[in-house]
Formats: sequence, structure tokens, C-alpha cells
Amino acid sequence: MSALNTFAPDLSNVLTLGLHGRAESAALKSLNVVCVGAHPDDPESGCGGTLAKLISDGHRVTILYLTRGEAGMKGQDRASTGAIRTKEAVHACQILGAQTVFAEQMDGETTTDAEKSRAFTDLLSSLAPDLVFVHWPLDTHRDHRNAAQLVYEAWEAMNESFTLVYYEVMTGVQTHHFEPNCFVDISATWEKKRSSIYAHECQNPDRFYPYHERMEKERGSTVRMDRAEAFVIVRERLPKPLIPFQL
Ligand SMILES: [Zn+2]
Repeated sequence: MSALNTFAPDLSNVLTLGLHGRAESAALKSLNVVCVGAHPDDPESGCGGTLAKLISDGHRVTILYLTRGEAGMKGQDRASTGAIRTKEAVHACQILGAQTVFAEQMDGETTTDAEKSRAFTDLLSSLAPDLVFVHWPLDTHRDHRNAAQLVYEAWEAMNESFTLVYYEVMTGVQTHHFEPNCFVDISATWEKKRSSIYAHECQNPDRFYPYHERMEKERGSTVRMDRAEAFVIVRERLPKPLIPFQL
């Protein structure tokens, strides 16, 4: 969509989830939503407001962390860092109301070889997702790229049985060349998102949340909302009446 590629306001492509009332939402199928992130704090940063919105509308959300962020604390060993970050990730998911799952790869050493790809597909398949969010593949962090690759391979292996949605993190610093075709209004859920991010105390969220807050406001201004999260939807496979958003 050229209009969206140039970031011109185009409300026809705004995710409409939540724009209809609760009663109408209840009539829709309750979706299994999985958000895949390479490290604790990635899913919360990229789509915490959208996940909170999906949960408030009655959908089931699982955050699937590829690693436990074992390399995320300088001067600390991986085991103790992983334990601290696991606790923080579980707390963040509790704030959002999401289930927590770990794929048990190692921070900084993730791989997409055939064995790991099969294992990841099996894990994702066991969650029976209707909708999967994952990092945009053009990203400076190899774990982010690997998460995108693993989800893409699972999507193919599962015959494209779920809707694949890419999210951005620290665009311009980590995510690059991201041209969204979907915006979600998070004006009502951004505070819950912020709380989930600040659950990751050991990462000093003051260091990165303000960047995401600017992104929320900038994306929001694109579509005349106070705050928004932006996505690239690859394909919509759900029957039209079940689609929680408008393409
Ligand atoms: Zn990360």
C-alpha cells in the first residue's frame, strides 16, 4: 500500500480490534495468539500494547521467548542472569495477562539449523496459534533475525496455518526498513505495556523505554491516534468473520 509506505494517514488499514464493542468481540472466536521474542523485554517493547488489547478482548496470548536473556547482564554469569530475567519475564507476562513459554535457546548463540528449526516448529505447533507476532527479519541483532527465521520456517512447515505479523523494536537502531501496513491503537493500553517493560528491572528500562514511547507517539500521529503500535501483516488466512482486524 503506497499510502502506508509513505506513512500517510490511512485509517482503512488500522487494526479494528477493540473498535467494536465487547459484546461483538465475544461473538468472535477467541484466538490463540503467540508473540515470539528473542529476549525477555522484546515482545513487551514491540507489541505490549497490542497484546494487552487482545487479552482484554478475550483472546489467549502466549509470549514465547526464544532465550532467557542469559547474556543480558554484564559481569554476571549466564545461569544467574537467566534466572533473574526468567523471573522478570514471568512478572511481565503476569502484568499483561499472558502465558509464558521459553524455547530454551541461548542468548547470543541462537541458531536456525534443521534440528533447532524442527524443535521450534514442534513447540509453536503445540500452542496451536491463530496469530503469531515476531521480530521483523531485518534487524541488527542476530537473535532477532533468528527468531524471525524460525517463525517463518514454522509458518511454512505448518502450511501457513496462522496469520504472520511482524513487529518492530527500536526502529532505526535495531529494526530497519520497516514499512507497516497495520496500526493498532494502544491509547488505552500503553500504560500496561510500560508496566510490563518496567518489570525487566535488570535491563534498566529508562535506557530504552523512552525510545519506544517516542515510537508509539510517532506511529500514533501517522494514523491520528494518541499512541499506536505498527506491524507488517504478511498474510491473512482466517475466515473473514473471525478476523479481529481489517486489512
Ligand atoms: Zn532482543
